[in-house]
Amino acid sequence: MDVNRVWEARARITPYVNKTPLIRSPVLSEQTKANVFLKLENVQPTGSFKVRGAANKILSLSQAEQSRGVTTFSTGNHALAVSSIARHLDMKAVICVSHRVPKAKLDAIRRYGVEIRNDFDSQDDAEAFCSQLEREGLTVIKPFDDPSVIAGQGTIGLELMEDLPHVETVVIPLSGGGLLSGIGLALKANNPRIRVVGVSVERGAVMYESIQAGKPVILEEKETLADSLLGGIGLDNRFTLSMVQQLADEILLVSEPSIAAGMAYMLEAHRMGVEGAAAVGLAAVMEQKLKVDPGENIAVIVSGNNVDLSTLLRVTQQYSSSTNHLT
Ligand SMILES: *Cc1c(COP(=O)(O)O)cnc(C)c1O
Repeated sequence: MDVNRVWEARARITPYVNKTPLIRSPVLSEQTKANVFLKLENVQPTGSFKVRGAANKILSLSQAEQSRGVTTFSTGNHALAVSSIARHLDMKAVICVSHRVPKAKLDAIRRYGVEIRNDFDSQDDAEAFCSQLEREGLTVIKPFDDPSVIAGQGTIGLELMEDLPHVETVVIPLSGGGLLSGIGLALKANNPRIRVVGVSVERGAVMYESIQAGKPVILEEKETLADSLLGGIGLDNRFTLSMVQQLADEILLVSEPSIAAGMAYMLEAHRMGVEGAAAVGLAAVMEQKLKVDPGENIAVIVSGNNVDLSTLLRVTQQYSSSTNHLT
């Protein structure tokens, strides 16, 4: 895939997405003796970076395709992004999700006035139903395994190069791999020495296991705080498996308690509520799983904020008595 697609994506999606802030983390910088920055994708319009890829894909469709409408299967944030763009463009959209998707996410999707189907046991079942809608004329907007989606997510890499030209390491939450593929493509085209680190959860590291196996594998879905990282990479994966294989220098796995600590850290130190998936990069730094050189310039992608308030309160409450070391 050519990096030009990322530049084209940027021009196309600019009216629909925010250029997000990159802020320094004094606490994590102090702790690691490095310069740790946070890329705040939690402040995107739909609460996650997914709006970048969805906007780029949908805006690339022909007029005829746009008038027939779109559909998607997703654990929530991608669905939200597709719904929001479809609403902007006044298009039909059908969202298919598994019944595990948290209520906060479904409520948020519903606000865009799109059709929701959530009577599926797994993402794979939701995907199968999507394919049926495709035969009826709708375009499936895939959450990650599509060059237009990857290029959209890659615009984060362009922003990082502008705001932190000497970035040396980028830490990226990793599930289907669209985010890592896009950012890795944009950064390594500019400087192949930039270290690209993916972070997945111990409970359900599908991309990690697939790379080990050399082909897409299926894992049983387990409960995790990082529910946005659930879901397979697709047995017919065409792009992200090989791109992550090429672009990721390391893949780290983090535990549930350290994800909780990452969420608590964002609330305590930065007064921001973020979801578990967005905290895995922070968890890798805080748990010292990420090897760091003194003075190294590190950007951690904080990918989204769609978490039930009750979950956020429960998780952070557990840490409220032990967070003095964070501030
Ligand atoms: C989708 C998502 C990810 C993972 O992105 P992939 O492209 O599937 O690797 C990470 N964080 C959040 C908040 C997400 O919604």
